[in-house]
Amino acid sequence: MKVTRRQFLKVTGATAAAMAVTDLGFDMSATASAVKELRIKNVTPTPTICPYCASGCGLVIYAQRDSAGKFEKLLSVHGDPDNPINQGCACSKGAAMFNLREIYDPETGEQVINPKRVQKPMYRAPGSDKWVEKDWNWMLDRIAEKIKETRDGSFIHQEKLEDGNNIIVNRTEKIASIGGSGLDNEECYLLSKMMRSLGVVYLETQARI
Ligand code: SF4
Repeated sequence: MKVTRRQFLKVTGATAAAMAVTDLGFDMSATASAVKELRIKNVTPTPTICPYCASGCGLVIYAQRDSAGKFEKLLSVHGDPDNPINQGCACSKGAAMFNLREIYDPETGEQVINPKRVQKPMYRAPGSDKWVEKDWNWMLDRIAEKIKETRDGSFIHQEKLEDGNNIIVNRTEKIASIGGSGLDNEECYLLSKMMRSLGVVYLETQARI
């Protein structure tokens, strides 16, 4: 009989738990079978790929469905032990996906997982202690204005060398760019081109953003 890695982990995990409690003198046979039934009742594991970065880790999503197979509730998201890329692991970002993703009740439209997650651009004016909701057009215009203002106010055209000659540098040291692993090759290329054209010299990236 061929046993998949996931089946092996399930069996060894359940056996270890049962043995540990049985060692204490309890008869866990009835409880173990009840737990086993509860764990698999109405739960359909669905393998998928993490959307956050190009590592392409495999995840398994457990969702509770009704008797007609309709989605009812997300129960768990974790690394897929059968996936050769991550072999059941997930980085902190992938492991926290359960709370990061917005999940809506299909009947009411209400956000049921992590309702505190911010979904719209929020703006806090200088000196204010309040965040207010803004639309994306307003926010993008505001970002563009601040970039232009900062870049123009800090632009260095020339620098003097030790020998007294001037050299053209065309840079700003007041703006930095940080990218994340959600950016693909083309987006990274465009971002670096745009930053270089502004004169930005501090470009960095961090994979877990
Ligand atoms: S974000 Fe983390 S879990 Fe997701 S693919 Fe990248 S490394 Fe894997």
